[in-house]
Amino acid sequence: MEPVTIITGGSRGIGAATARRLAAAGHHVAIGYRRDHDAAKAVLADIHAAGRRGVAVPADTTDPEQVAALFDAAADLGPLTSLVNNAGVTSPIGPFTELAFDDLRRVVDVNLIGYVLCAQQAARRITRGGAIVNVSSAAATLGSPGEYIHYAAVKAATDTLTIGLAKELAPRGIRVNAVAPGIIRTDIHAVSGVPDRPDRAAGRIPLGRAGEPDEVAGAIAFLLGPDASYTTGAVLRIAGGL
Ligand code: NAP
Repeated sequence: MEPVTIITGGSRGIGAATARRLAAAGHHVAIGYRRDHDAAKAVLADIHAAGRRGVAVPADTTDPEQVAALFDAAADLGPLTSLVNNAGVTSPIGPFTELAFDDLRRVVDVNLIGYVLCAQQAARRITRGGAIVNVSSAAATLGSPGEYIHYAAVKAATDTLTIGLAKELAPRGIRVNAVAPGIIRTDIHAVSGVPDRPDRAAGRIPLGRAGEPDEVAGAIAFLLGPDASYTTGAVLRIAGGL
């Protein structure tokens, strides 16, 4: 059976790199995104150029109805085999005492509620032999002091979601894993108020540089693929040694 994969947040950054990578590896791909229609169209064009079926669906992952609509749209591509739970946000970097309630709410809504809603749809629909990859963060174990502890805490919840879901879905032959990226060169750092964070942080990363989105996409492709057939409940760190 040809793999059919949903990637949330597939219009930019790690999600877009994963969409291109998986299309090249033979997946038909449905990408969800929130508002950047042009970016989504560009990724969809590349999926088609790779010879795969694709669809780009504006779907806010914090809304259960929009999540269901994304999964319904993906059904047109064939039986669903995998989900990459990726759509995520940070908030302005700063001390914990300055955290604004709206930023806390948004980070929890998108990175936790959104992941759970998408994982639930996937758990209901994915066929035997399928897989889920949750995009967590190295922040889950670093804690992100002085930056965004609330984001780190929610990413730790992603790791727990991964472990529990892996065990619950194993009897159905569905594997669930996570990747935990370190500092990757995407637009997410602009939202946190430090667009050049990947360059600024290079000195404290053991490998001496930030990562590229495709370096995370490769790990996601591995975890979804047959070489990871006995891997479930794992959190694969992709953080240059951080
Ligand atoms: P990014 O470049 O900012 O891209 C975020 C993507 O998520 C975009 O496609 C965006 O769509 C979408 N999105 C955001 N909120 C959404 C929502 N509520 N509903 C649907 N789509 C939504 O981010 P990224 O750096 O690739 O991050 C991807 C994942 O990796 C996140 O979970 C992030 O926490 C994690 N991560 C990133 C890093 C890093 O250094 N970059 C490190 C560790 C973990 P629109 O453009 O349409 O808004």
